[in-house]
Amino acid sequence: MPSPFVIPLFLSHQGCPHQCLFCNQRGITGSGGDEVTPLQVEETIRRQLAWPRRRPEAPVQVAFYGGSFTGLPRARQAELLAVVQPFLASGQVREIRISTRPDYLNPEAALFLKNNGVRLVELGAQSLADQVLVASGRGHSAAKVPEAVAVLRGAGLRVGLQLMLGLPGETTRLAVQSASAAAALAPDLVRLYPCLVVAGSPLATLHRSGAYRPLGLARAVALAARLWRIFAAARIPVVRMGLQPSPSLEQNLVAGPYHPAFGELVLSRLFFNRVRKLLAGRDPDRLHTLVVAEADASIHRGQGKVSIRRLANLGLLAGVETVYSPAQPRQQPCLLAGRQDRLDKLSHLG
Ligand code: SF4
Repeated sequence: MPSPFVIPLFLSHQGCPHQCLFCNQRGITGSGGDEVTPLQVEETIRRQLAWPRRRPEAPVQVAFYGGSFTGLPRARQAELLAVVQPFLASGQVREIRISTRPDYLNPEAALFLKNNGVRLVELGAQSLADQVLVASGRGHSAAKVPEAVAVLRGAGLRVGLQLMLGLPGETTRLAVQSASAAAALAPDLVRLYPCLVVAGSPLATLHRSGAYRPLGLARAVALAARLWRIFAAARIPVVRMGLQPSPSLEQNLVAGPYHPAFGELVLSRLFFNRVRKLLAGRDPDRLHTLVVAEADASIHRGQGKVSIRRLANLGLLAGVETVYSPAQPRQQPCLLAGRQDRLDKLSHLG
């Protein structure tokens, strides 16, 4: 499915058995935590459908986030999903997505979701390493993740996996193993979130006592890039890296690798590595043209043109002209040797 237009509905901590060590949904989203009423759900959907959209052709997805949807009493799940049914029937909304815990699913619960318009379930897996799950107070084992994926697939639902980087007890080796195990489950999509210390979370207390040290930003970016490559090799889209920036998150942030454009930092790093490899293999005695997709211009340059400066400092831009082409496929920079060669090739690119 192409990228949807998402109508988000936050269910802060509703359905959760306890507060996981790193979590404070209220601090992250700024939502008050009051039970959202069916009328509020309906009004939110109507309001957002009425807004002008940048991509009016994008399918609309109603997403219940921020809690454990299948931990809610079944009548409450039914009440929330019922509000969306008329919008599904009229075609204004394509599908419903929910988020939940891997240990809160069984075949019957999955079938209920499927029969009520849910098409995508995102599992807050966070890690597939038992020691990390224990240290993070998750309350379930890593084995619950493949079990939940199998249950969801059995009901014909698409599956998303959310992983966190830098949780207590996680090493780089465990993060890589965890991502490889997640990729082996072939989810339909993945989200990667660096672990942040948010005020009001038990992790904030651990951090204050010195018992937890978050990843630094550079390390988190490097690790996310490494995990991104694991999923890319398995052709699994990583649809988000880093939490959605919000004033509430920024006010409640105590420590950790936060950046409002974290995903862009990761993509820039990946792009930089690709371009560096291309340029390092060139014949330095010839002129070259580096062709970059127009839409990749900002990740190629990097924040404040940091990537361009690094390439220049490495001496890799001497004799190289960069062309941003609307016809070049995204994420696939290419290097053309010689000016004539470049012009010939570019005439094909349009
Ligand atoms: S991480 Fe998920 S299950 Fe844990 S408290 Fe937060 S929303 Fe609930």
